[in-house]
Amino acid sequence: MIIKNDKSEILDFLLDAANYKGDCEAVYFPENESDIIEILREANQSRTTITIAGNGTGLTGARVPENGIVISMSKMNRILEINFNEKYAILQPAVILSDFQREVTANSLFYPPDPTEQNCFIGATIATNSSGAKSFKYGATRNYVLELRVVLSNGEVLNLKRDENIAVGNILNLISENGFKIELKLPNYLMPQIKHSAGYFVKQDMDAIDLFIGSEGTLGIITEAKLKLLEFYQNMISGILFFNNESDALNFVDYARAKSINNRLTNDVTDINARGIEFFDYFSLQFLKEDYQKINDNHKAAIWFEQEITSETEDVIFDKWMEIIEKFNADIENSWFAVDNIEREKFKNFRHAVSSKVSEFVAKKGLRKVGTDTAVPIEQFRNYYYFMKQTVVENNLNYICYGHIGDCHLHLNMLPKNEGEFLIAKGLYAKFCKRASELGGTVSAEHGIGKMKRNYLLEMFGEKNIIEMARVKKTLDPNLLLGIGNIFDKKFLNC
Ligand SMILES: Cc1cc2nc3c(=O)[nH]c(=O)nc-3n(C[C@H](O)[C@H](O)[C@H](O)COP(=O)(O)OP(=O)(O)OC[C@H]3O[C@@H](n4cnc5c(N)ncnc54)[C@H](O)[C@@H]3O)c2cc1C
Repeated sequence: MIIKNDKSEILDFLLDAANYKGDCEAVYFPENESDIIEILREANQSRTTITIAGNGTGLTGARVPENGIVISMSKMNRILEINFNEKYAILQPAVILSDFQREVTANSLFYPPDPTEQNCFIGATIATNSSGAKSFKYGATRNYVLELRVVLSNGEVLNLKRDENIAVGNILNLISENGFKIELKLPNYLMPQIKHSAGYFVKQDMDAIDLFIGSEGTLGIITEAKLKLLEFYQNMISGILFFNNESDALNFVDYARAKSINNRLTNDVTDINARGIEFFDYFSLQFLKEDYQKINDNHKAAIWFEQEITSETEDVIFDKWMEIIEKFNADIENSWFAVDNIEREKFKNFRHAVSSKVSEFVAKKGLRKVGTDTAVPIEQFRNYYYFMKQTVVENNLNYICYGHIGDCHLHLNMLPKNEGEFLIAKGLYAKFCKRASELGGTVSAEHGIGKMKRNYLLEMFGEKNIIEMARVKKTLDPNLLLGIGNIFDKKFLNC
């Protein structure tokens, strides 16, 4: 096993995509589960803390060490099996998501989780319960995890299979492959019933596997995953619609979202049933217009949508979309419909271009952006969106807003021009998290908490519940080795 401790060789492990910085003594590169068990044995003896590193695309500092050592999962990167008949895949944790997606699609199968940044490791997408545009219809990574192998901090291995280990009320019993037993008393806080990736997933009668999904490297190390695959849809209707009036775009979304949710429940395959609905505000379009001639200065917002079709349903579904496109006054002449996979790939690039253009802009100017990951229940969405927009305008900050509007989950990115504005933006960010919590929403719908958002999680759940979360961690990791500083401040581990 390679171990690197020369600082110049491990610099990449001391930060993540949010540019959150840390420090460590060494980076270990295990090649298999036995290497990991060995590292943990030593770490238990020396009480060395361990941070698990995926591919560093996280936006919360979760993979950035405060001290101790880093375990890089990068050498455990093989697809072990794709079973086309039974529609599942077995993977090591460092398979890159885009490689996996390519392999799966080439074999006419479909893996729905699609975070905008696809250069991430599968294990990390499970550790953060990632989601993306298609999560509107298909949900987050959690819905596709069938089995996990997890090494606990004492080196014991859990082989967790969905539906095999269910809590009785709030008591969850875990048993390792060697027969080591742990009884966990689960906290009784309630999670918001929306897209949500903040703090441990707990509920009465829950499946043991769900506790580890989204646990951000604090409860164990994922060494293998079996994931559910779906059948690949060959045909799709998708479009990017431009609107000369933002409220028309928002009304369009309200209608398309409600129809889609309803038709999903009734399984109506002849009506509107989007798998993704994404939003781009006026300022996002300003960033994109240089590369996309269809955008003009009258366009105040754009919506991307996509729906699966068959040759039987194609015409009727197309007509249903056209009806509402007209009803809500989209600029039909300039709107853009994909007729084949090549065009659909261009749409994907359009969606991804916003975040990369903003990151480029911010880096070029030597600035730091401050971006939200909050989501709220549908009935609160409009108020919440206007509250955020009005607040940034009142504070004279530049911003852009885009994202997963189907899930009432937009990324409002504030673009401060100097340190003073940066501090104002940080203050507004705290305000937006507080308001989302008050409205029954979440401070993180997909990126997780890591080290950067602990205070907002504290505000969302309250101290009592954070102490309960810390108690779960202490039961599974009594020597406090794994992912220290993620999700909650370490002071809660001493309670
Ligand atoms: C431009 C951009 C767009 C993004 N868009 C999205 C999006 O649409 N949706 C979304 O969900 N996220 C998004 N992200 C965030 C990020 O891509 C995801 O959080 C991703 O899952 C992180 O993967 P990674 O391999 O880079 O993990 P890292 O950042 O290296 O680690 C993330 C966490 O996973 C833990 N971890 C890693 N491997 C393991 C393991 N084997 N066992 C246990 N814990 C482990 C780490 O300790 C850490 O806590 C975006 C990021 C960027 C930069």
